[in-house]
Amino acid sequence: MLDQIRIVLVNTHHPGNIGAAARAMKNMGLTRLYLVSPRDYPSVEASRRASSAIDVLDNAVVVDTLAEALQGCSLVAGTTARLRNIQWPQVDSRECGELLVNESAQHEVALVFGRERTGLQNEELEQCQYLVNIPTSEAYSSLNVASAVQVLSYEIFMASRSEAAQPSTEVKDEIDLPATADQLEGMYDHFFTTMNDLNFFGDRNPEQVMRRLRCLFGRSRMSTREVQILRGLLSATKGNKLKSRS
Ligand code: SAH
Repeated sequence: MLDQIRIVLVNTHHPGNIGAAARAMKNMGLTRLYLVSPRDYPSVEASRRASSAIDVLDNAVVVDTLAEALQGCSLVAGTTARLRNIQWPQVDSRECGELLVNESAQHEVALVFGRERTGLQNEELEQCQYLVNIPTSEAYSSLNVASAVQVLSYEIFMASRSEAAQPSTEVKDEIDLPATADQLEGMYDHFFTTMNDLNFFGDRNPEQVMRRLRCLFGRSRMSTREVQILRGLLSATKGNKLKSRS
């Protein structure tokens, strides 16, 4: 199950943090590291801090965008030091461990970490279905990014050992499994262009409307089949428009 869990570090500035994150992962049985546009990598400092987890670094996948790192994942959780004032499902580190372990029995999942200074941007958090917060003292809520990887890797490891982790054994057709991040992004793009073509936005703020739709669909955990139905519906509006014009 742990093989199905990706740890994604976005735009990490200090290579030492990448090495320390790799080590934290390996200690807890995680191996799949994704690096989105790291500032200084590969680096001697990263390798030094990884110590005996050099294999995790060697196998790390380096990509340009978060969307690439999330391709094929059906559940994405994004970590944040501040609980943001947005209507998004939020879990703490312990709940996150259980959630990811349970979900990873059936499909790939990802846990995303932000930049050292500024964390994850809103448009990155919007690609996540859950926000994850590690509870801390109110006086200082921001952990070093590799320390945050350590805490969450530990929670994942403990959840994977727990008897409470009861992954569903129900066998489903692939099309009835939760849609992947790329399928959802494709659907959101389709919604946006269709709504735009229909002049739906008018006085509305398109970004806000799209954020609300993401929130709605994120909560409902759509399957691939359901995404296909909605996209079929969106495509049908195009046919109708053409028909009514002709
Ligand atoms: N000022 C930034 C802090 C970034 S800390 C912010 O408010 O988001 C760098 C990264 O470490 C964060 O993006 C997150 O991935 C992780 N992190 C730090 N503290 C955390 C906490 N309390 N809970 C969850 N993740 C945390």
